[in-house]
Amino acid sequence: MLVLGGGYAGMMAAIRAARLTRKTGGKVTLVNASPTFTERLRLHQTAAGQPLAPRSLAESLAGTGVRLEIGRVTALDPARGQVRLADPDGGERVLGYDKLVYALGAVTDTSVPGVDDHAYTYDDHESAVRLSRRLDDLTRGTVVVAGGGLTGVESAAELAETRPHLRVVLVTRGRPGSMMGESARAYLDASLERLGVEVRSGAAVTKVLPDGVELEGGELIHSDATLWTTGIKGLSIATESGLTVDAQGRIVVDSALRSVSHPDVYAVGDAAAITQKFGVMHGTCQGGIPAGLHAAGSLAATLQGKEPAAFRFGYVHQPTSLGRRDAVIQFTHQDDTPRRWYLTGRAAIRYKEVLCASSFPTFKLLKRGLVPVWMFRLTGI
Ligand SMILES: Cc1cc2nc3c(=O)[nH]c(=O)nc-3n(C[C@H](O)[C@H](O)[C@H](O)COP(=O)(O)OP(=O)(O)OC[C@H]3O[C@@H](n4cnc5c(N)ncnc54)[C@H](O)[C@@H]3O)c2cc1C
Repeated sequence: MLVLGGGYAGMMAAIRAARLTRKTGGKVTLVNASPTFTERLRLHQTAAGQPLAPRSLAESLAGTGVRLEIGRVTALDPARGQVRLADPDGGERVLGYDKLVYALGAVTDTSVPGVDDHAYTYDDHESAVRLSRRLDDLTRGTVVVAGGGLTGVESAAELAETRPHLRVVLVTRGRPGSMMGESARAYLDASLERLGVEVRSGAAVTKVLPDGVELEGGELIHSDATLWTTGIKGLSIATESGLTVDAQGRIVVDSALRSVSHPDVYAVGDAAAITQKFGVMHGTCQGGIPAGLHAAGSLAATLQGKEPAAFRFGYVHQPTSLGRRDAVIQFTHQDDTPRRWYLTGRAAIRYKEVLCASSFPTFKLLKRGLVPVWMFRLTGI
């Protein structure tokens, strides 16, 4: 069995699949582009220049029986059951599989002109480091953050707090944090104001230039560094492989998380289009982690000739850091619409930090066959 991508969803899938198939001789190999785990939840902290300890994938996988292969996946051939890898030393090789879990995450949607050439993104750890280095060079100037979703809000707040000498402008089509309830959003607005973030609501960027962004209507905002966070799409590897994908390039899966066109391929996390009662899930760790666990269960059931169970998921929260000294957590209904309750201030900071720090303890629990209780609540696995 091959698991592609050692992020939140792929690590869960690999560790659990190894455990569930150990007795029947299952062999699991995890492929990842880098030997360290990318803490995607903290990429805005990386962009702001905060040092984060690198986490070794090999260490997290020690004792699980999962074999780790470092290489960049460049192509997938589901008809032959093969994956092509580019090695870090420049070589190329092909790995075969009988079952595949595709968990390569997503990349920034760069369909707006100029984004590819002139904007910074969060496609990987190195992209966030590049932005941080650019900001180090600026003693004054403007950073434009495009996108008022939670990633854009967290980034604008973090950059404003750590780089108070820079002007930070958050440009968004709607309002920042528009998915939150009125009260949590009002808190978020006040916090951005306190941090000095200039918010341009109801504004769409139509072009990114080397030294600014152009808005619908022609207005130009000067920018010394533009961060693009408006949306994500699946990697072209999935589309080019012939797997059925949706309009965002995500692999369309059935209720057991198998590709609808190639049932030997399972897809999870940001890379998958997973339908629930409320519609297609959007990319979050919150959904990616239980999906990774569920795919491993589906796979193990299938290998034993059993019918895999349907994946059920409901959102619980929208956790949003507002720099290191503030946060707001909007609790949600299963379909991600806001409930009345939300947390702010110190309790919210603590809540968000526990979430961000929970991956490694969770990997450890999984090694021992323990699935954290909250995941039962989310998924019923
Ligand atoms: C700043 C920020 C804050 C966020 N905050 C939250 C939050 O608070 N809560 C929440 O639920 N979600 C949050 N998210 C979203 C969350 O990070 C993603 O939904 C989650 O990381 C998806 O997990 P994944 O395993 O599908 O993909 P990833 O975590 O992106 O993992 C993909 C893995 O695949 C590897 N990979 C990619 N391409 C290749 C290749 N070609 N070959 C080999 N390996 C490859 C990568 O190196 C990576 O290890 C945040 C995102 C950002 C950017």
